[in-house]
Amino acid sequence: MKWTLSKSRILSFLQCSKRLYLEVHHRNLIKYSSHSEAAFRIGDEVGETARKVLMPGGILIEYDRGLRKAVETTNNFLNDLFDITLYEATLQTHNTQIRADLLNKDKDCIHVVEVKSSTGIKEIYLVDSAIQYSVMAGAGFTPAKISLAHINNKFVYQGDSNYNDLFKVVDLTSEISERAEQVPDWIEAANKTIAGDLPRIEVGEHCTKPYSCPFIKHCWKDIPVIEYPITKFPGLKKSKVTELIKIGYEDIRDIPDGLLGDTLQTRLNAYRTGKKLIPDELRNKLAQLKFPRYYLDFETIGFAVPKWSGTRPYEQLPFQWSCHVEDKSMAVSHTGFLDTSGNPPMQLFSEALINVLGDSGPIIVYSTFEKTVLRNLQERYPEYRESLQSIIDRLFDLFQPIKTHYFHRDLQGSYSIKNVLPTVVPDLKYSDLPDVKDGMMAQQAYLEIINVKTTQERKRSLTNSLSKYCEMDTFAMVKLIQNLSKKNE
Ligand code: SF4
Repeated sequence: MKWTLSKSRILSFLQCSKRLYLEVHHRNLIKYSSHSEAAFRIGDEVGETARKVLMPGGILIEYDRGLRKAVETTNNFLNDLFDITLYEATLQTHNTQIRADLLNKDKDCIHVVEVKSSTGIKEIYLVDSAIQYSVMAGAGFTPAKISLAHINNKFVYQGDSNYNDLFKVVDLTSEISERAEQVPDWIEAANKTIAGDLPRIEVGEHCTKPYSCPFIKHCWKDIPVIEYPITKFPGLKKSKVTELIKIGYEDIRDIPDGLLGDTLQTRLNAYRTGKKLIPDELRNKLAQLKFPRYYLDFETIGFAVPKWSGTRPYEQLPFQWSCHVEDKSMAVSHTGFLDTSGNPPMQLFSEALINVLGDSGPIIVYSTFEKTVLRNLQERYPEYRESLQSIIDRLFDLFQPIKTHYFHRDLQGSYSIKNVLPTVVPDLKYSDLPDVKDGMMAQQAYLEIINVKTTQERKRSLTNSLSKYCEMDTFAMVKLIQNLSKKNE
């Protein structure tokens, strides 16, 4: 055989045989999403920390001289009489190899720990460990114990690089035995797939479960697009969706009149005409908002491995806010806060926010996220509890009335502000922003800014992009309310 199987290739096969085939024969088609790339980076950081915390002082099995050398080195260490800890121990049986994140050999007993950056155990991890176990057993080094280390989200970092309680280690040995018995069959079937022709697999839910497939762009490009699929009809119950699809309707506009209730029939008409629906109830509700109106948006960062003392893994910590203020004459001014020092930004964030929001007037946000962040800040800084509470009491979540009342067919079932904005204010576009165009990009930009290796010029450019992005979020709300509350819209 000209190819080698690995744990990740077997997992690819279990997700979709076509994925495995493409990974082996058409690697040039691989396109990882920005979410996947961010997940890889987090995985690397978590893996590094796990080495130091769970099995310090180990030897890294390098891969730069190829698989054969890595396997040979691992075998030599494991056949030695000495106890040892290895990182990325590489073992092979027939044409299948695995790399163990952490391996400890103590008096001939081998303990393997797989490290994950999630905060719990998922079914796929049991499969993952079963493959690990089976291949190691085939290579002559059956682990006495195989465990999974995942992030302990109750952990509170106390500083001094003390991450001793960051991980929860769970023994999976007894849980994986049944799955491990199936591994030889999976290997055989995976090899057959690679040796055969391109499997004919339709796209479907499996393209994103359990992992986002890197061939989505390739496989989905020729799928005929249904312009307004029934599955995205807001308010249409799942059972009705299934019923209509069974009858043969795929595009919402083809649903015959008379099958839906009044509200959905009105929306069905709007699908056909392309007109937006702005009921008076929505206009009035928005028009009644008092002045001054404050429009507020936060950007946050969550570290898998906490960086700042007193914080938890993945806790969303605010580093930026944007606020537009609109007075009675509809004059709008803007203020923003962005801490790029790399120090904990939460306290300065809170103080600056309290100073800018005045004592009265609605504070308009576009989700419940800001409320959650403010509550967390109350916990963190009891001295600001009251001031933050008065901010919470003034919040007006614009998302709710828009979701309940507003409708345009181009929303495609999603009421995110990035979807709603172009249907109401077509000239205002997130796509025109430089570098940072969504929340994920904002987090990546922030991480790059606080990285000491980033050049000053790059930091300046990213800081500018971040400021513009957050400002856009609040300006978008200003324009949404101005337009949706107009009498003649
Ligand atoms: S995109 Fe879907 S169908 Fe294509 S290889 Fe991936 S999982 Fe299979």
